[in-house]
Amino acid sequence: CGIVGYVGQRSALDVVMGGLRRLEYRGYDSGGVALVHDGELLSAKKAGKLVNLDAELAAHPLPVAHTGIGHTRWATHGAPNDVNAHPHLDDTGRVAVVHNGIIENFASLRAELEKRGHEMVSETDTEVVAHLLRDELERTPDLSDAVRAVCRRLEGAFTLVICDAAQPDVVVGARRNSPLVVGRGDGENFLGSDVAAFIEYTRDAVELGQDQVVTITPDDIVVTDFDGHPAETTEYHVDWDV
Ligand code: GLU
Repeated sequence: CGIVGYVGQRSALDVVMGGLRRLEYRGYDSGGVALVHDGELLSAKKAGKLVNLDAELAAHPLPVAHTGIGHTRWATHGAPNDVNAHPHLDDTGRVAVVHNGIIENFASLRAELEKRGHEMVSETDTEVVAHLLRDELERTPDLSDAVRAVCRRLEGAFTLVICDAAQPDVVVGARRNSPLVVGRGDGENFLGSDVAAFIEYTRDAVELGQDQVVTITPDDIVVTDFDGHPAETTEYHVDWDV
């Protein structure tokens, strides 16, 4: 029920865990993070409260990385357990996906993917997105283009935030009928399901419209519609207490 994304110079894990804590008030049953480090995706996820994820990270520490995503889950498809917790990776471990909402047509997408030999490990609607992206990235190497192509196939309500081991310093977000805001920093940028996720670091926010994809790098924020056309966004300053 909460999503955080970060690219910049800080420890992405610290920013993401701090953001997830600030989103705890929304309620959740599991938590997880993924980092891009040295061309690899590293992830940790755990059912239950964030203290369980903290314990997992203490037992199996992750190296310091500067690109990361995080999630707190409110299960809709599949029990609240470690395997169903997000992030979901494709079976090559190249992309990591976190998702709030419901992919209504996941069953037919899953059947199509399994016919092509994909093996899914969770019961979630979300995991199909990671697998669709892996296939799309073979045709469409740019992560943002690949996310747009996959979004055009999804039905339902979703906030998606994605990172790719092969594209460090990039986090891509997408939204349909589900909230996602961008935090504009100086040499760093943020994504959050609400501004509480990044308010500690910046109060300059960019509101996304319906059916938009945002690409953040440390120095840039690019927003398009699902077809790749540049999109109008609204910049605002958060001058209230969160
Ligand atoms: N439908 C997804 C799941 O059950 C996401 C739930 C959420 O919004 O946290 O895993």
